[in-house]
Amino acid sequence: MVSPASSALGTEVLESSHAERLKRLNKLPLRDNLRGLEPYGAPQLDAPVLLNVNENTHGVPADARQAIISAVEEALSGLNRYPDREFTALREALASYLGHGLNAENIWAANGSNEVLQQILQAFGGPGRALLSFPPTYSMYPLLASGTNTEYLSGRRSADFSLSADSAAQQVTEAAPQLVILCSPNNPTGTALDLEVVRAVYDASEAAQSIVIVDEAYAEFAHPGTPSALTLLPGRDRLIVSRTMSKAFALAGARLGYLAAAPEVTDALRLVRLPYHLSALTQATAVAALEHSVSLQANVEDIKVQRDRIVEGLRQLGLQPAPSDANFVFFGGLAEPTVIWQGLLDAGVLIRDVGIPGSLRVTAGTEAETTAFLENLARLLGHEQF
Ligand SMILES: *Cc1c(COP(=O)(O)O)cnc(C)c1O
Repeated sequence: MVSPASSALGTEVLESSHAERLKRLNKLPLRDNLRGLEPYGAPQLDAPVLLNVNENTHGVPADARQAIISAVEEALSGLNRYPDREFTALREALASYLGHGLNAENIWAANGSNEVLQQILQAFGGPGRALLSFPPTYSMYPLLASGTNTEYLSGRRSADFSLSADSAAQQVTEAAPQLVILCSPNNPTGTALDLEVVRAVYDASEAAQSIVIVDEAYAEFAHPGTPSALTLLPGRDRLIVSRTMSKAFALAGARLGYLAAAPEVTDALRLVRLPYHLSALTQATAVAALEHSVSLQANVEDIKVQRDRIVEGLRQLGLQPAPSDANFVFFGGLAEPTVIWQGLLDAGVLIRDVGIPGSLRVTAGTEAETTAFLENLARLLGHEQF
């Protein structure tokens, strides 16, 4: 194992070992569609202000933390046994959190919504099948497709990254994919979809009997009055609404994602899940956090205030922030985004370059973190005082 070194020699050693490892990897009987791929992940750089991967910057509130400690301690006494394979208490807690008349039969969960999406692809995708989504959108979708040998189809959006009901429906009709993913609020642009788009896509998917997934990872941050696709579930048996505890619940490190759908969808996922995929510690943590959703919600409200401050601040700096219903803001109007990105990092503020020309994405931080971002950005853009 070569440890990272900053000397010229160290870098060389690292690079040759990378080439060597790639050579050895390619000798293995790897699946063809995985050859030459690099493992995906946002750079995990260290900086005092981390606003790059849309984490909840406010942490777990004290009362929820205490409840989690007690719940995990209790779970420890049974850790020699396999956990409840059906995670019944957790499904009940998630159903009552979501409301909308849902019950435990409508709920499925896994280690992050990434794993939920992977299980959906394992059950409904695969060789000879296709997944349609609408870039720029969540970069995990094509990777989950390639991991399950599902063809990934890139749909089109308008130049301003919006997606109309007519256009989306027409593209679904043309592609006739087995699966469609709509991300709302969309990552990286932050804007929520009109439910008209979901309705139109679902209707258009009737012919191919596609599974339609709405990824609502950021739903809790939406502006008041933004309806969830959960309201569309009754009577739509191929519709899946996916959620996560990674963002609003500040539990990215605990890994808990979930979905709501018709009971037969959860039965399909039982065919591909590993037995006992949710550890007793994960289940205990998630149930305890759900019991404290009220205090977690207070942090969500503060994050929304910071998010709106960012949108307003960016406008004042002459930039073009996209309307955001999430805990992050995507903004254009930058002549040199990579220079700005580096300048912010040099000042200790890490944000995300999502590779879209002239633009960057920033997560809403605490009040102090948000101030650090806005002030440094103003300075880098040559504005006197912010
Ligand atoms: C962050 C994010 C998720 C969450 O993934 P987890 O595996 O639950 O942490 C899902 N979808 C989108 C679009 C995201 O940005």
